[in-house]
Amino acid sequence: MADDAGVPEEGQEELAPFKIELARSSRSKCKSCRRAIQKDSVRFGVLVDGRFGPGFMWHHINCAAKHRLEEIEEAYSLKCFEGEVDPPPIDKLRAMAETAERKKDEKKLAPYAELAPTGRSKCRHCDKLIEKGAYRVAVLRAVEFFGQVRSGPINLHAKCVAGELEKDDCTTEVDGFFDNLKENSTGLDEAALQKVCDEIGSLDGAS
Ligand SMILES: [Zn+2]
Ligand SMILES: [Zn+2]
Repeated sequence: MADDAGVPEEGQEELAPFKIELARSSRSKCKSCRRAIQKDSVRFGVLVDGRFGPGFMWHHINCAAKHRLEEIEEAYSLKCFEGEVDPPPIDKLRAMAETAERKKDEKKLAPYAELAPTGRSKCRHCDKLIEKGAYRVAVLRAVEFFGQVRSGPINLHAKCVAGELEKDDCTTEVDGFFDNLKENSTGLDEAALQKVCDEIGSLDGAS
Protein backbone atom coordinates (compact mmCIF):
# COMPACT_ATOMS: atom_id res chain seq x y z
CA MET A 1 0.00 0.00 0.00
CA ALA A 2 1.15 3.49 -0.74
CA ASP A 3 0.83 4.52 2.91
CA ASP A 4 3.39 1.98 3.98
CA ALA A 5 6.36 4.01 2.85
CA GLY A 6 7.48 4.80 6.40
CA VAL A 7 8.73 2.47 9.09
CA PRO A 8 5.76 0.21 9.72
CA GLU A 9 7.06 -1.45 12.85
CA GLU A 10 7.81 1.75 14.71
CA GLY A 11 4.72 3.36 13.29
CA GLN A 12 2.56 0.63 14.69
CA GLU A 13 4.11 0.95 18.11
CA GLU A 14 3.42 4.66 18.18
CA LEU A 15 -0.18 4.04 17.30
CA ALA A 16 -0.91 1.83 20.29
CA PRO A 17 -4.41 2.92 21.34
CA PHE A 18 -3.46 3.49 24.98
CA LYS A 19 -0.52 4.52 27.04
CA ILE A 20 0.11 4.08 30.76
CA GLU A 21 3.08 6.07 31.96
CA LEU A 22 4.40 8.46 34.58
CA ALA A 23 3.36 12.04 33.85
CA ARG A 24 6.38 13.89 32.52
CA SER A 25 5.24 17.24 33.91
CA SER A 26 2.33 18.58 35.95
CA ARG A 27 0.82 20.30 32.94
CA SER A 28 -1.57 17.65 31.64
CA LYS A 29 -5.14 17.73 32.87
CA CYS A 30 -7.31 14.74 33.60
CA LYS A 31 -10.20 14.55 31.15
CA SER A 32 -12.34 12.83 33.79
CA CYS A 33 -12.00 15.20 36.73
CA ARG A 34 -10.39 18.19 34.96
CA ARG A 35 -7.72 18.51 37.62
CA ALA A 36 -4.00 18.60 36.96
CA ILE A 37 -2.11 15.33 36.78
CA GLN A 38 0.95 15.68 38.99
CA LYS A 39 4.36 14.95 37.56
CA ASP A 40 5.46 11.33 38.09
CA SER A 41 1.95 10.08 38.94
CA VAL A 42 0.54 7.30 36.79
CA ARG A 43 -1.56 8.57 33.92
CA PHE A 44 -3.68 6.77 31.34
CA GLY A 45 -3.69 8.02 27.77
CA VAL A 46 -6.28 7.35 25.09
CA LEU A 47 -5.11 7.94 21.55
CA VAL A 48 -7.30 10.39 19.65
CA ASP A 49 -7.07 12.15 16.31
CA GLY A 50 -6.65 15.80 17.15
CA ARG A 51 -6.39 18.88 15.03
CA PHE A 52 -2.62 18.55 14.91
CA GLY A 53 -2.55 14.80 14.35
CA PRO A 54 -2.84 11.92 16.77
CA GLY A 55 -2.33 12.66 20.44
CA PHE A 56 -3.28 11.38 23.87
CA MET A 57 -6.13 12.42 26.12
CA TRP A 58 -4.91 11.90 29.65
CA HIS A 59 -6.64 10.69 32.78
CA HIS A 60 -5.48 9.92 36.29
CA ILE A 61 -5.28 6.14 36.28
CA ASN A 62 -7.78 6.02 39.17
CA CYS A 63 -10.24 8.31 37.39
CA ALA A 64 -9.96 6.15 34.28
CA ALA A 65 -10.65 3.04 36.35
CA LYS A 66 -13.87 4.59 37.64
CA HIS A 67 -15.10 5.83 34.30
CA ARG A 68 -13.56 3.62 31.58
CA LEU A 69 -12.50 0.33 33.06
CA GLU A 70 -12.98 -1.53 29.79
CA GLU A 71 -10.29 0.53 28.13
CA ILE A 72 -7.98 0.01 31.09
CA GLU A 73 -8.51 -3.72 30.84
CA GLU A 74 -7.59 -3.58 27.19
CA ALA A 75 -4.53 -1.44 27.87
CA TYR A 76 -3.34 -3.91 30.51
CA SER A 77 -3.84 -6.88 28.23
CA LEU A 78 -1.97 -5.08 25.43
CA LYS A 79 0.72 -4.09 27.95
CA CYS A 80 0.63 -0.45 26.93
CA PHE A 81 3.12 0.47 29.62
CA GLU A 82 5.69 3.10 28.90
CA GLY A 83 9.00 3.82 30.62
CA GLU A 84 9.50 3.13 34.31
CA VAL A 85 5.84 3.07 35.23
CA ASP A 86 4.80 0.67 37.97
CA PRO A 87 1.11 0.30 37.16
CA PRO A 88 -1.34 -0.44 39.99
CA PRO A 89 -2.64 -4.03 40.07
CA ILE A 90 -5.63 -4.47 37.80
CA ASP A 91 -7.59 -6.01 40.68
CA LYS A 92 -7.27 -2.79 42.62
CA LEU A 93 -8.62 -0.80 39.68
CA ARG A 94 -11.49 -3.22 39.23
CA ALA A 95 -12.39 -2.79 42.89
CA MET A 96 -12.35 0.98 42.47
CA ALA A 97 -14.68 0.72 39.49
CA GLU A 98 -17.04 -1.40 41.53
CA THR A 99 -17.07 1.05 44.42
CA ALA A 100 -17.70 3.91 42.02
CA GLU A 101 -20.62 2.00 40.58
CA ARG A 102 -22.09 1.46 44.04
CA LYS A 103 -21.64 5.11 44.91
CA LYS A 104 -23.70 6.18 41.93
CA ASP A 105 -26.90 5.94 43.93
CA GLU A 106 -25.48 8.18 46.61
CA LYS A 107 -24.29 10.60 43.99
CA LYS A 108 -27.82 10.88 42.70
CA LEU A 109 -28.84 12.27 46.05
CA ALA A 110 -25.96 14.66 46.54
CA PRO A 111 -24.43 16.96 45.66
CA TYR A 112 -27.36 19.09 44.65
CA ALA A 113 -28.24 22.74 44.88
CA GLU A 114 -31.54 24.44 45.62
CA LEU A 115 -32.90 27.74 46.82
CA ALA A 116 -33.21 27.75 50.59
CA PRO A 117 -36.98 27.59 51.19
CA THR A 118 -36.70 29.32 54.57
CA GLY A 119 -34.07 31.27 56.48
CA ARG A 120 -33.93 28.72 59.23
CA SER A 121 -31.42 26.15 57.97
CA LYS A 122 -27.83 26.39 59.12
CA CYS A 123 -24.71 25.87 57.08
CA ARG A 124 -22.91 22.92 58.61
CA HIS A 125 -19.58 24.29 57.56
CA CYS A 126 -19.58 27.79 59.06
CA ASP A 127 -22.53 27.26 61.40
CA LYS A 128 -24.31 30.39 60.22
CA LEU A 129 -27.86 30.62 58.90
CA ILE A 130 -28.52 30.28 55.19
CA GLU A 131 -30.64 33.17 54.03
CA LYS A 132 -34.01 32.44 52.49
CA GLY A 133 -33.74 32.30 48.69
CA ALA A 134 -29.97 31.90 48.76
CA TYR A 135 -28.35 28.93 47.08
CA ARG A 136 -28.06 25.99 49.39
CA VAL A 137 -25.84 23.06 48.46
CA ALA A 138 -26.10 19.57 49.89
CA VAL A 139 -23.05 17.31 50.09
CA LEU A 140 -22.53 14.03 51.91
CA ARG A 141 -20.84 13.70 55.28
CA ALA A 142 -19.90 10.39 56.86
CA VAL A 143 -21.55 9.81 60.20
CA GLU A 144 -20.91 6.93 62.53
CA PHE A 145 -24.15 5.33 63.50
CA PHE A 146 -24.06 2.36 65.88
CA GLY A 147 -20.61 1.44 64.68
CA GLN A 148 -21.55 1.72 61.03
CA VAL A 149 -20.42 4.56 58.86
CA ARG A 150 -23.12 6.08 56.71
CA SER A 151 -23.25 9.11 54.50
CA GLY A 152 -25.95 11.67 54.99
CA PRO A 153 -26.57 15.01 53.29
CA ILE A 154 -25.66 18.27 55.00
CA ASN A 155 -26.57 21.80 53.89
CA LEU A 156 -23.98 24.40 53.01
CA HIS A 157 -23.61 27.91 51.70
CA ALA A 158 -22.34 27.71 48.13
CA LYS A 159 -19.20 29.54 49.20
CA CYS A 160 -18.56 27.00 51.96
CA VAL A 161 -18.56 23.99 49.62
CA ALA A 162 -14.87 24.12 48.67
CA GLY A 163 -13.79 24.11 52.33
CA GLU A 164 -16.14 21.28 53.23
CA LEU A 165 -14.99 19.07 50.36
CA GLU A 166 -11.47 19.17 51.75
CA LYS A 167 -12.54 17.57 55.02
CA ASP A 168 -11.86 13.90 55.63
CA ASP A 169 -15.42 13.05 56.61
CA CYS A 170 -16.88 14.59 53.47
CA THR A 171 -17.77 11.70 51.18
CA THR A 172 -18.84 13.78 48.19
CA GLU A 173 -16.05 13.62 45.67
CA VAL A 174 -14.41 16.55 43.97
CA ASP A 175 -14.16 14.35 40.86
CA GLY A 176 -17.09 15.23 38.66
CA PHE A 177 -18.57 17.47 41.34
CA PHE A 178 -20.07 20.05 38.99
CA ASP A 179 -21.41 17.44 36.59
CA ASN A 180 -23.12 15.61 39.43
CA LEU A 181 -24.44 18.83 40.91
CA LYS A 182 -25.99 19.83 37.60
CA GLU A 183 -27.51 16.43 37.08
CA ASN A 184 -29.00 16.32 40.58
CA SER A 185 -30.24 19.88 40.88
CA THR A 186 -33.45 19.29 39.03
CA GLY A 187 -35.16 22.34 40.52
CA LEU A 188 -32.74 24.87 39.04
CA ASP A 189 -32.53 26.10 35.46
CA GLU A 190 -29.31 26.53 33.47
CA ALA A 191 -28.75 30.14 34.48
CA ALA A 192 -29.28 29.42 38.16
CA LEU A 193 -26.95 26.43 37.95
CA GLN A 194 -24.27 28.57 36.40
CA LYS A 195 -24.70 31.09 39.20
CA VAL A 196 -24.39 28.55 41.94
CA CYS A 197 -21.33 27.01 40.28
CA ASP A 198 -19.77 30.48 40.14
CA GLU A 199 -20.53 30.98 43.83
CA ILE A 200 -18.95 27.66 44.68
CA GLY A 201 -15.90 28.74 42.70
CA SER A 202 -12.90 26.67 41.74
CA LEU A 203 -12.44 23.30 43.40
CA ASP A 204 -9.10 22.68 41.78
CA GLY A 205 -6.57 23.07 44.55
CA ALA A 206 -3.81 22.86 41.99
CA SER A 207 -4.60 26.12 40.24
ZN1 LIG B 1 -8.75 12.71 37.40
ZN1 LIG C 1 -21.39 28.54 55.41
